[in-house]
Amino acid sequence: MENASLPHKDAAKRVADVVAQLKVQFGERVSCNESVCEAHSHGEALQIAQMPAAVVFAESTADVSEILKLCHHHRVPVVAFGAGTSVEGHVTPPEHAISLDLSRMMEVLEVNPADLDCRVQAGLTRQVLNVQLRDTGLFFPVDPGGEATLGGMCATRASGTAAVRYGTMKENVLGLTIVLANGEVIRTGGRVRKSSTGYDLTSLFIGSEGTLGIITEVQLRLHGIPEQLSAAICQFENLHDAVSTAIEIIQMGVPIARVELMDDVQMAASINYSGLTDLRPLTTLFFEFAGAPEAVREQVSVTEDIARENNGLRFMWADTADERARLWKARHNAFWAAKAIDPAARVISTDCIVPISRLADLIDGVRKDIAASGLQAAILGHVGDGNFHTLIMTEDNETGHARALDLDRKIVARALAMGGSCSGEHGVGLGKLEFLETEHGAGALSVMRALKATLDPLNILNPGKLLPAGPVYKG
Ligand SMILES: Cc1cc2nc3c(=O)[nH]c(=O)nc-3n(C[C@H](O)[C@H](O)[C@H](O)COP(=O)(O)OP(=O)(O)OC[C@H]3O[C@@H](n4cnc5c(N)ncnc54)[C@H](O)[C@@H]3O)c2cc1C
Repeated sequence: MENASLPHKDAAKRVADVVAQLKVQFGERVSCNESVCEAHSHGEALQIAQMPAAVVFAESTADVSEILKLCHHHRVPVVAFGAGTSVEGHVTPPEHAISLDLSRMMEVLEVNPADLDCRVQAGLTRQVLNVQLRDTGLFFPVDPGGEATLGGMCATRASGTAAVRYGTMKENVLGLTIVLANGEVIRTGGRVRKSSTGYDLTSLFIGSEGTLGIITEVQLRLHGIPEQLSAAICQFENLHDAVSTAIEIIQMGVPIARVELMDDVQMAASINYSGLTDLRPLTTLFFEFAGAPEAVREQVSVTEDIARENNGLRFMWADTADERARLWKARHNAFWAAKAIDPAARVISTDCIVPISRLADLIDGVRKDIAASGLQAAILGHVGDGNFHTLIMTEDNETGHARALDLDRKIVARALAMGGSCSGEHGVGLGKLEFLETEHGAGALSVMRALKATLDPLNILNPGKLLPAGPVYKG
């Protein structure tokens, strides 16, 4: 590797030279201010922090290209930063690095209602996009809990509560504009629903966590806002019954729009935090049904039958849009509700996924692991996909973190043994590095490393993330 021959002591000087040149080119859009750098030194949850040497705010693909050309020339690492909501240490820079903030790139570049697609800049958030789409009768469905950017969502291959019906970012991105490590701009994919030409570069960059290139524009699939939406909740005395209900709904092929689970610990927290005072602290399934009125009636009837057979208590319906919004907001705020149980505690969110038929066994096992750990933890998740999170509450010190990570390792080991993955949606970052070889095998990892070495031979793009013991940045 070219940069390996350069002594580490030069790294501070090289980044200082880059910052000086960036200031000439971008003026006030380059910041070394302590609070700005601190805000870019970590993401959420796994707050391993390292200050960047500077933060530069890009406003266009051309800006990103100029910044990467400069960093490439001086062999300075660059970490893309969308909204910083990722939870596995993805945005924590290495030493002597630049944080490249894309949050000012938030234009909707085109909307094509007749083809149900649009093109946006990568720093736009999904919430702002949906507000701008409101008059078109279309919407973008992928909804991770945080106020994430669409570029960050591509980079983590994000999903959320609606993936059970609409899929993840992988299924909802048609094409990308990407700036490569050396500043070259490429386009992948396009506007068509399918194409059988060439390697699928769009899919390669979806989930690449800023390690292969910087995404500056995204061509998205849009969906029609359904004619009718209905939301309901059903509570269960027993967690296993709730999970079995979700599994059977999927196995029966009910085209449900969302089916989310929150266990009794999470419900107690959310009742307090989100004022769900009409509910009891029992395991709860949140449902959403979408489609034409007749289709919705049928989905509801099958779902109610399945829940009843699994000892579900009565269904409670959210009839108005406001009531639905209140329920889903409570679901999206689950992390903050868990954090509010003890503001001094650290909440560590795990993320694993198994084939749906193994979900009940996995959650039963995880419950035992939680009890054995002596820690408090809530279970919630996108159970229709076989995906769930354990929010582990622990003391915010080294011993507390070690206990939480020990529990996380047990959960991941169970999921992997059942043919699952150590992350259904949060990604690898730093937090999941240790599991990648077990999950993918040495052969697949060496192919991933070869791709990284081809696209980023100097290893300047988010070095140290996604690939365990990959090419190490040597400054
Ligand atoms: C309360 C809460 C709930 C959450 N719920 C979910 C959930 O349900 N589903 C889910 O999938 N995630 C969830 N997340 C995690 C997080 O919201 C997602 O990972 C999200 O996709 C990150 O987007 P971001 O814009 O914040 O990216 P960042 O955190 O800024 O960056 C994430 C990664 O992408 C890279 N990156 C960012 N922008 C670009 C770009 N333009 N080009 C190339 N690389 C880039 C970064 O370098 C980094 O590696 C949740 C987080 C929180 C705090």
